[in-house]
Amino acid sequence: MYCKFCAAEIDDDCVVCPKCGKQVGQLEGASNQPIIINNSSSSSASAAASAAATVVGVPRGKMCNKTTALLLCIFLGVFGAHKFYEGKIGMGILYLLTGGLFCIGWIIDIIALIGKPNPYYV
Ligand SMILES: [Zn+2]
Repeated sequence: MYCKFCAAEIDDDCVVCPKCGKQVGQLEGASNQPIIINNSSSSSASAAASAAATVVGVPRGKMCNKTTALLLCIFLGVFGAHKFYEGKIGMGILYLLTGGLFCIGWIIDIIALIGKPNPYYV
């Protein structure tokens, strides 16, 4: 038979025209319809699952190496080097201008860094 929408020659038992995708036959067989629904639902389900996996896989924040941060803090901490390393640019500039918050913030950060796991997240 021929598709009444695009006039393509198709099989007599076709329900959906393979050329234009429109319904040309009766749904008594209806085998095409559930397959189409299953395909779309399974693909969207897998897309949602992969999206959820992506969300789970994202770390809480920037991953920092404790050793690097601690060395930066000890030697360049009064200039805020470890704050720049952690991505805290504002705090880094503040440390740079105030000499590590007048060395108080610097010493606190060294002690805090020693207590952190390796790697740690900020
Ligand atoms: Zn057609």
